[in-house]
Amino acid sequence: MMKIEEVQSTTKKQRIATHTHIKGLGLDSSGRAIPMAGGFVGQLGAREAAGLVVDMIRQKKMAGRALLLAGPPGTGKTALALGISQELGSKVPFCPMVGSEVYSAEVKKTEVLMENFRRAIGLRIKENKEVFEGEVTELSPEETESITGGYGKSISHVIIGLKTVKGTKQLKLDPTIYDALIKEKVAVGDVIYIEANSGAVKRVGRCDAFATEFDLEAEEYVPLPKGEVHKKKEIVQDVTLHDLDAANARPQGGQDILSLMGQMMKPKKTEITDKLRQEINKVVNRYIDEGVAELVPGVLFIDEVHMLDMECFSYLNRALESSLSPIVIFATNRGICNVRGTDISSPHGIPVDLLDRLVIIRTETYGPADMIQILATRAQVEELEIDDESLAYLGEIGQQTSLRHAVQLLSPASVVARMNGRDKICKADLDEVSALYLDAKSSARLLQEQQERYIS
Ligand code: ATP
Repeated sequence: MMKIEEVQSTTKKQRIATHTHIKGLGLDSSGRAIPMAGGFVGQLGAREAAGLVVDMIRQKKMAGRALLLAGPPGTGKTALALGISQELGSKVPFCPMVGSEVYSAEVKKTEVLMENFRRAIGLRIKENKEVFEGEVTELSPEETESITGGYGKSISHVIIGLKTVKGTKQLKLDPTIYDALIKEKVAVGDVIYIEANSGAVKRVGRCDAFATEFDLEAEEYVPLPKGEVHKKKEIVQDVTLHDLDAANARPQGGQDILSLMGQMMKPKKTEITDKLRQEINKVVNRYIDEGVAELVPGVLFIDEVHMLDMECFSYLNRALESSLSPIVIFATNRGICNVRGTDISSPHGIPVDLLDRLVIIRTETYGPADMIQILATRAQVEELEIDDESLAYLGEIGQQTSLRHAVQLLSPASVVARMNGRDKICKADLDEVSALYLDAKSSARLLQEQQERYIS
């Protein structure tokens, strides 16, 4: 089995860039959190609780339910959600979003939610690709003429003979594929290749063009001895339902899911309609029934859930019921507050009917030791050098401001260090950048102190 293609999903990469060190939840085989593992530091209770949720998901006990991570800012809620998705499997989609994203001038709130739901549902498409090589034994000249002459459009297929080591095969070709053979001036006696995807002939050509036709690395193409039979490859492609929606929204969209993948890399905004989504669902369901594809439910992470309003919550309630639902993880740092747009007060600003469905995990603020360790991990992945004393100092800054702020100071500090001709970040660099960049708390304090200077 060999994998030759992989399609990159269009997940929002930038938002998970600061979490690249997270590789899982870092639990041992009995589900206990290892103090430092999987990129995680501390937050033991929450990690163990998240591990149990992973077990529940695997046992299908989370259907219709969702998870809420409740805790102060910068306590690793995003990191935990990402860790959960990684525990579910390596190609499981992870789609992070912020509650306030649903408010846009152009797009309906439920449309934004729907799109993100579909970004969080993966589809693994498996196809068996076969490649035959053989010597052409028959090519019908009359049919050639009728096709190239323009009046053969009614021909549904053309049979050609192909002599391989295992005997002569008769192959049914689509006229357009046959046409390609003719264009290449293939004649009886020539050695050609035929590529088939799950039974249907997709491409043909002369053997010498084989490697370039297939976009293969030179070493991947092992020429078969003349007349040898075939190679079989399994191609696995992981895409999300949103990738399929977006690919098919393009005007030049064809019928075949796989043939559309190539177009995905050229982003061009076209509207994805409900009708289109239904069509995609139909094709996807057919693929699933045929055993060609399987669904991979991923994780939809909705931060600042208190920013959602009633309309969103009722949409979410319904969406969670659907058989086509990803795991939804909400996060909040609010206690009791009003559900947005109403005067109904509720824990975390979430209506009670949704609260009823939630499994809630608390995250705790980090102490200095954990925070320093997390900063050290980030410095390492970002390949930045910092001495222990400065790291401890950055830890102190983090304690006074927030972990996120401290993490974000690392990279500008390294720029300052380099400007001063050093490879290693030192305390002075940190002082310089923390004077330049305000954290959220000091910024708010400053605004309050200097209120009269701003327009209110
Ligand atoms: P929250 O969503 O609670 O605000 P977060 O996961 O978004 O938290 P940040 O506040 O952005 O976390 O945290 C800053 C950095 O620290 C991120 O790179 C995050 O991955 C990392 N981080 C947070 N908690 C942990 C942890 N327990 N172990 C390792 N890294 C962590």
